[in-house]
Amino acid sequence: MRRISRRDFLNGMALTVASGLTPAAQIAADPARYPPALTELRGQHPGSFDVAHRTARAGERFRLGDAEESYDLVVVGGGISGLAAAWFFRRAAGANSHILILDNLDDFGGHAKRNEFSLDGRRIIGYGGSQSMQSPRTLYSETAKDLLRELGVDIGRFQTAFDHNLYPSLGLARGIFFGREAFGRDVLVPGDPMRIAAQGSPQSLAELVAAFPISQASKAQLLALYDFQRDPLSGHSAGEKRALLKMTSYRDYLTRVCGCSAEVANCFQGRTLGFFALGCDAVPAADVREFGYPGFAGLGLPAESAAERKEPYIYHFPDGNASLARLLVRSLVPAVGAGQGMDDIVLAPFDYDALDRPDHSIRIRLDSTCVDVREVGDNVLVGYVRAGAAHRIAAKHVVLACFHMMIPHIVPDLPEPQRAALAQNVKAPLVYTNVLVRNWRPWIRLKVHDIAAPMSFHSRVALDFPVSLGGYRHPRDPAEPIVLHLEHVPGAPNSGLDARSQFRAGTAKLLDMMFVDFEARIRDELDRMLGPGGFSSARDIGAITVNRWAHGYGYVANSLFDREDYEDTIVRAHQPFGRVAIANSDAGGDAYAHLAIDEASRAVRELLRS
Ligand SMILES: Cc1cc2nc3c(=O)[nH]c(=O)nc-3n(C[C@H](O)[C@H](O)[C@H](O)COP(=O)(O)OP(=O)(O)OC[C@H]3O[C@@H](n4cnc5c(N)ncnc54)[C@H](O)[C@@H]3O)c2cc1C
Repeated sequence: MRRISRRDFLNGMALTVASGLTPAAQIAADPARYPPALTELRGQHPGSFDVAHRTARAGERFRLGDAEESYDLVVVGGGISGLAAAWFFRRAAGANSHILILDNLDDFGGHAKRNEFSLDGRRIIGYGGSQSMQSPRTLYSETAKDLLRELGVDIGRFQTAFDHNLYPSLGLARGIFFGREAFGRDVLVPGDPMRIAAQGSPQSLAELVAAFPISQASKAQLLALYDFQRDPLSGHSAGEKRALLKMTSYRDYLTRVCGCSAEVANCFQGRTLGFFALGCDAVPAADVREFGYPGFAGLGLPAESAAERKEPYIYHFPDGNASLARLLVRSLVPAVGAGQGMDDIVLAPFDYDALDRPDHSIRIRLDSTCVDVREVGDNVLVGYVRAGAAHRIAAKHVVLACFHMMIPHIVPDLPEPQRAALAQNVKAPLVYTNVLVRNWRPWIRLKVHDIAAPMSFHSRVALDFPVSLGGYRHPRDPAEPIVLHLEHVPGAPNSGLDARSQFRAGTAKLLDMMFVDFEARIRDELDRMLGPGGFSSARDIGAITVNRWAHGYGYVANSLFDREDYEDTIVRAHQPFGRVAIANSDAGGDAYAHLAIDEASRAVRELLRS
């Protein structure tokens, strides 16, 4: 197990040292703080995980006294799942229920994170994590749809709130950046072969690929991947082909089955990172086939499309799914601010001081890491550490809506098979960075709005989604400031490691990086990608917020590394024990907001049944 490095410690202490205060004094001294407006290193921000790491990695136990408060329900984890659990519990147990939600971050919402900026009197909103509601008509359960309705979310509104035409009307397309480290020189090519092939335009495809900085032989191999006449698995039955695609990484499929060069495989290496948090060396060919990656056209298998592709990707608030968290918080703790519905939530002011008041029946306590949960008599005692001091509270019920891999470290009485199952959920590390820029004229000159960079530090760099809602207006004029969205997924590409080992390696890398390390990479890559369009990081960047999710997406079964019965492990992991139930999207086996909601609903039902 990795020991806490000096850098973790320094990251955690940086704010405190800068202000000359102890952590406790700092929280007390800044009541007007508004976490969404904080910049630099956010997400799992400095100071938020030190106690968790001391508990989980170093096995430290904190001295906990008698219970200081008591509640009907304590929820550990103030992400969408924990907030939804409080909401479902209140609905079932009554409006007078006393509920406390604990979270170790300095903001609520967990991965559903809001970032805000202001420049020249304009307020600019971005998302720092959980991005969009994925195909809500197709994938959302009735429970999740019902909650959305109750919160005033009409998913039909996104049809007009999301401006499909803005970027195309300005002549902007998707593009690919080939970085010199892997491809010999920096080249930005406007256009995306996967999209052009889907539109059935072989001539445009050939013209596009001609501009790639790869050899002629590699270009021919790349184009052949789109050839319907060529079956690289001829002689195999349909069943054998499917089995092989499940057991073969896409990279191996390209190089070993289709006979492509490493150069061709590199064109796809990082394309899978945003969705799978793994490069194409660790994603099964069967999975990317469902997402329209090339190489499968001639196999003769019936077309299969992932459920995620059945709806347009438009269900996005300006702050992503953070609006769902804000709607939940405003419903649970009305004193944070007035208003109702999906429109006014976008610009609604939030009074963070109102989150945790003794006279409220529902309270949200931030900066508080749960370190111990145990049943004693008719109560569950919950220990947590806040600003260096350990506390204990008593609860009739507890929902653990925190990361599954953390639960074995805070619940000493769990049965061993359940501990082992929970530990299997190794979360994927990833970074969502928002860069506020003064204008986006360079993008117009370069004719792109969304750049995939398959071998670069940032695998994606894009103009923000064009969503205008509730008085918030997405910039339409390239002279206006805008937020750029950058994605970085660490891991250990082409190492031969399995998914969990890659995630652990990536987490360690992220925790070893300080803001200045990220900043240097951001400036370098933006200058190289956008410099030919007139961009200068020194002149054009207004602010940077790096949302570091060392523990990001919940684990998703991967046919390269997990057995077919992995579903049993997920079920074993979230079994209730006594008065404690387990939620979080981790319990749903995929990293989705709707699963966070469904699992919260299940956990509350389990508690109230017992
Ligand atoms: C970068 C990123 C992008 C994503 N994009 C999407 C998307 O587009 N669509 C989608 O549906 N989903 C997306 N997801 C998945 C996302 O995880 C879910 O949408 C959802 O936000 C998960 O909510 P949750 O409450 O289950 O977990 P979390 O949001 O992780 O909340 C759990 C909370 O528990 C806290 N916690 C952990 N341990 C403790 C402890 N010991 N004590 C106190 N608190 C603790 C954590 O800090 C966290 O705040 C994305 C995730 C990431 C990281």
